[in-house]
Amino acid sequence: MASLLIQHASLIVSMDNDDTRWADGGIYVEENVIRQIGPTDQLPQTADRIVNARGMIILPGLVNTHHHFYQTLTRNLPAAQDANLFHWLRIHYPIWARLTPEAIYVSTKVALAELMLSGCTTSSDHTYIWPHGARIDDQIQAAAEMGFRFHAARGSMSVGEAQGGLPPDSVVEQEEAILRDSRRVIEQYHDASRCSMLRIVLAPCSPFSVSPELMRQSIALARSYGVSSHTHLAETLDEAAYCAETFGRSPVELAEDLGWVGADVWHAHMVHPSADEVSRLGSTRTGVAHCPSSNMRLASGIAPIRSLRRAGARVGLGVDGSASNDGSHMLAEARQALLLQRVLGDPAALTAWEAFWLATRGGASVLGRDDIGSLAPGMAADLIGYRLDTLELAGGAPHDPLAALIFCHPPHVDLSVINGQIRVQEGVLRDTDLPALVERHNALALALVRGELP
Ligand code: ZN
Repeated sequence: MASLLIQHASLIVSMDNDDTRWADGGIYVEENVIRQIGPTDQLPQTADRIVNARGMIILPGLVNTHHHFYQTLTRNLPAAQDANLFHWLRIHYPIWARLTPEAIYVSTKVALAELMLSGCTTSSDHTYIWPHGARIDDQIQAAAEMGFRFHAARGSMSVGEAQGGLPPDSVVEQEEAILRDSRRVIEQYHDASRCSMLRIVLAPCSPFSVSPELMRQSIALARSYGVSSHTHLAETLDEAAYCAETFGRSPVELAEDLGWVGADVWHAHMVHPSADEVSRLGSTRTGVAHCPSSNMRLASGIAPIRSLRRAGARVGLGVDGSASNDGSHMLAEARQALLLQRVLGDPAALTAWEAFWLATRGGASVLGRDDIGSLAPGMAADLIGYRLDTLELAGGAPHDPLAALIFCHPPHVDLSVINGQIRVQEGVLRDTDLPALVERHNALALALVRGELP
């Protein structure tokens, strides 16, 4: 059985229920599972691979609960730099309509590389546009090649402009085809086992791009297989106005009508729930992906994540798609969460520890997992390490090494282990030719925007 030993970490922060920490700490891994953790001198001294983590802080890998990987191709489009959500979507839909299988595959790898280098070891993705033969299989292949733990959300849109929806008719799918493909990908790929590297999620896009009937059928299908469901909800006031006019309901009321609450559901954003809705989302243990950068970028608002957490909702962080962030930097997103909650006047509205909790335990809970998000025997071997002697952490790490990661914002991890495999070492992503990947990605990005694809 292959073993991996992390030794002599300056500090290990486990994020377990007791917030256990060790100086001169070690972690002993067999295959893909943590077997022992504690002071280095109390652990095995030999293993197939040994990593000397002297001078590093070791943490659980970060968990990203909302993304649209394909949007790395359309970051920072000049026409959409200063647009709110509906305007921004209308600019992007016709461009995304030209996506190809290769564009999906390459953009997935770019997003994953950024996530991995910024501390993320597990991510969900929500792709909801599948033109020209693109399939979720293209993303699953990319994640497997990079050794990344992936929750692939099979997104969809079915209500185009002709039926009163926001997206152009050319990018929506037939509902029957959506449900057929959803069933296919669950049966082909979903792995419910402990320490699974791949789970499928069903994810109709939003109230203004799918029908209530598809929402109902999709969640029934998901529940029949025991898979989670995900959508965008209560992101903007425009969406609230659309739901009031079209359904006579608020977005949260619509979700409740359709059965879209509970421990197997999470909603991206949840910027505009009422106080009563917050308490109902909490009592049903509904999940929320908080995406602070995107909410700021699109001027959507400030999600009441403190109230949501207090009410009992499961809350994690999401970088959101790369056309509204415009990065996939997971640690930076934790920092943004901290800063955004403070904007309203409370300087302790979210602490650095709470930001880490959201990025680890909170995210794991949102994705329905009890095998990631903390470091303890029996947990999946997903861990990250940052050197504490870097320029960015100078003068910060000596006072409080954990909080320094949030406040001082180091640009990349030095070590990342996913499922027991070393994926980043000495700050370098292994097994990926990044310059070649970026070159191809940029060529595809230009071709996509210029209308030269497919
Ligand atoms: Zn989104």
